Amino acid sequence: EAALRFDGVDKYFDNGTTALTGLDLSIAPGEFVAAVGPSGCGKSTLLRLASGLDSATGGTVHAPADSVGYVFQDPTLLPWRTVLANVELPAELAGTPKAERRARALDALRLVGLDGFEKQLPGQLSGGMRMRVSLARALMTQPSLFLFDEPFGALDEMTRLRMQEELQRIFADAGFAALFITHSVTEAVFLAGRVVVMSARPGRITASFDVPFPHP
Ligand code: ADP
Ligand code: ADP
Repeated sequence: EAALRFDGVDKYFDNGTTALTGLDLSIAPGEFVAAVGPSGCGKSTLLRLASGLDSATGGTVHAPADSVGYVFQDPTLLPWRTVLANVELPAELAGTPKAERRARALDALRLVGLDGFEKQLPGQLSGGMRMRVSLARALMTQPSLFLFDEPFGALDEMTRLRMQEELQRIFADAGFAALFITHSVTEAVFLAGRVVVMSARPGRITASFDVPFPHP
């Protein structure tokens, strides 16, 4: 059973735009796939369909029945809540008892390298650190699939490189399935075990390759 499967998926919008056409994509459990392509090739549409935020016009999308972890470029943290309280939020909404959600949040913060920052407010943190908080929050839902929408696109070059290494480390250990959208071929090849290349007008996958030298 795939973590995510698209079979011949088309997406048209009411204004006549064809965002995606005939898209086939299957992601196995634990597999990290990156999708690269120019603006307008349908990358965000692909993620919206995978997350259930939008539905296909044609073909079928088999997405996880349980939750997906969605990580955006803009981390959308609640500014009045501490780092710890932001990370706890999904479990709080799910009614998880306080002691358990606190323990899981502390684990997630340790995993992303933010132990010691639990009591800080998001406004006191750098962009890279806010992204780590967002990643820890997504880890709380223990999703079978992670969706990344150009999460590092707004970071400066040094922070981006550091975040790519962190993410690579976290995913190498945890074995989550992921679909990672990016403009950067370098980033895609660094992070993913397989890269799909998309092109625009209409959006579709034009190439797919395994990365030959996976990280140790
Ligand atoms: P990318 O993320 O690769 O930049 P998008 O998925 O955002 O691409 O968009 C794919 C195509 O669909 C583009 O031509 C875009 O203009 C169009 N599009 C996206 N969302 C809508 C919408 N809600 N209504 C009409 N056209 C849209
Ligand atoms: P990144 O964004 O990649 O986590 P930064 O370049 O923003 O890293 O910060 C480098 C280091 O400086 C961090 O790992 C952290 O130890 C420290 N730091 C950054 N912001 C703060 C802060 N608000 N309070 C305390 N230490 C900080």
